[in-house]
Amino acid sequence: MRAVVWKGPHSVEVQDVKEPQIQEDTDAILKLTSTAICGSDLHMYEGRTSAKPGTVFGHENLGVIEEVGKDVKTFKAGDRVVVPFNISCGFCFNCTRGYTSACLVTNPEMASAAYGYADMGPYKGGQAEYVRVPYADFNCLALPGTPGDSFEDDFICLADIFPTGYYGTDLAQVGPGDTVAIFGAGPVGLMSVISSSLRGASEIYVVDKVPERLSKAAELGAIPIDFSKGDPVEQIFSHRSQSKVGGQKLRPGSEKMPGVDCAIDAVGYEAIDRSDLSRQNPSQVLQDISRVTNPTGRVGIVGVYLAQDPGGVNDEAKQGNFTFPLGKMFSNGLSIGMGQAPVKRYNSYLRDLIVANKAHPGTIISHHLPLDAAPEAYADFGKRGDGYTKIILKPQAA
Ligand code: NAD
Ligand code: ZN
Repeated sequence: MRAVVWKGPHSVEVQDVKEPQIQEDTDAILKLTSTAICGSDLHMYEGRTSAKPGTVFGHENLGVIEEVGKDVKTFKAGDRVVVPFNISCGFCFNCTRGYTSACLVTNPEMASAAYGYADMGPYKGGQAEYVRVPYADFNCLALPGTPGDSFEDDFICLADIFPTGYYGTDLAQVGPGDTVAIFGAGPVGLMSVISSSLRGASEIYVVDKVPERLSKAAELGAIPIDFSKGDPVEQIFSHRSQSKVGGQKLRPGSEKMPGVDCAIDAVGYEAIDRSDLSRQNPSQVLQDISRVTNPTGRVGIVGVYLAQDPGGVNDEAKQGNFTFPLGKMFSNGLSIGMGQAPVKRYNSYLRDLIVANKAHPGTIISHHLPLDAAPEAYADFGKRGDGYTKIILKPQAA
C-alpha cells in the first residue's frame, strides 16, 4: 500500500510499504477515507523532534473497518469509525481515570502512545491506505452515515483537533459569560473558538498574524487580533476597555481586571518572536498569556512544548527548558493546565454535537488532496498561511 514516509527535515515521500496485519486479537485494520495533516506533524517534518527517518506519519484517522481480530466485540468489517490520536488500552490506572493521553500499557517507553509520532511507541501512522488500530473496542468511535457524506469533514476533526481545542477550554475552565484569549488561529486555536462558544463565553479574542486564519476566527464569532500590528495584549486591553461587556465597568475594581478570565495557548514552542517576526521565541505566548490573564484566571496550554528539540533557539530550549514569568502568574493566582488531549474523554459528546447540527468543525478545512500530493501538501501547510488552514489527504482517491 502507499504511505507517507518521513525521510528527514522538510522531506516526505509517498512510498510502497507493507500493509498492516492483525497482530493481536483485539486489533482492527482501518481503511482510511480521510487522514489529516496536523500542526504536530510539522514539528516532526521540520526536524524539531526526535523522530527517526522512515516514520510513517498520520495520527488523525477516519475510515471504515476492513477487518477485526477475533476478540473485538463491538465493531465489525464495514463500520465507519474515527480513532483518537492517542492509542490507549482502556484498563490501566490512567485510562480508567480518563487520562487516555497517558496510557501505561500501549507504549513500552513512556506513559502515552500515538500513531506515527516521535517517541509515542512502535505504531505506524495513518497517512496511508490502511492503519492498524490496537484495542479496537476502546479506540474506535462509532459514526453514523457513509464515507464521503456531508459529515466526513466534521468527523475527521474528532481524531484530534476538535477534542484538543475543546481540552484547551476545559483546562482553562471556560464557562458561561467568561472572556477568553486564544493564541494561535491554526486548526487547534479555531477549534478552541468553536468550543468556547459552545461553553457560553461572552467574548473570544484570537491572536495570530495570518490574515485568512484570523478571518476564519472572525467568521466563527471571535474578535481577531493581529500581532504583527502591535502588542496583542495591549490590543486586547484596549478592546476590552471599550467593549459592551468590559467597557461598562459593571463590577467595582474592574480596572484591575483589564484582560481576560481564560487564556489558551494553541501555538506551543514554535511561537514567532514578536520583536523579530523572522525568529522564534518558545516563551513568547507564555509571556503574553501571563500579561493578558486577569488575577484568578485560568490557562490551558495545548500547544506543544517538547523535552527535546534539536532545532531549539538555545541550549536550554534544546532540552525543553523555557523561561516564563512564573512569579507574576503566582501572584495573580492563575490555574494552569497543560498536556496532550485525552481525546476519548470528549469525542463521543463532540460527535453528538456534530450529529445534532450544533457544531461544524469541518468548516475550517481548506484543502482535500490525494495521498500522493503529500510532499507538496507538507511544504504548503508548513508555511502556516497562504490559504492553507487544514489539509485532508484522501488515500482512496486516484
Ligand atoms: P499550526 O502550526 O497550523 O498553527 C499555529 C498558529 O500559531 C499559526 O497560525 C501561527 O501563525 C500562530 N502563531 C505563531 N506564533 C504566534 C504567536 N507568537 N502568537 C500567536 N500566534 C502565533 O498548528 P495547529 O495544528 O493549530 O496546532 C497548534 C499547536 O497545538 C501545535 O503546537 C500542535 O503541535 C499542538 N497540538 C497539541 C495537541 C495536544 O494534544 N495537546 C494536539 C494537536 C496539536
Ligand atoms: Zn494532530
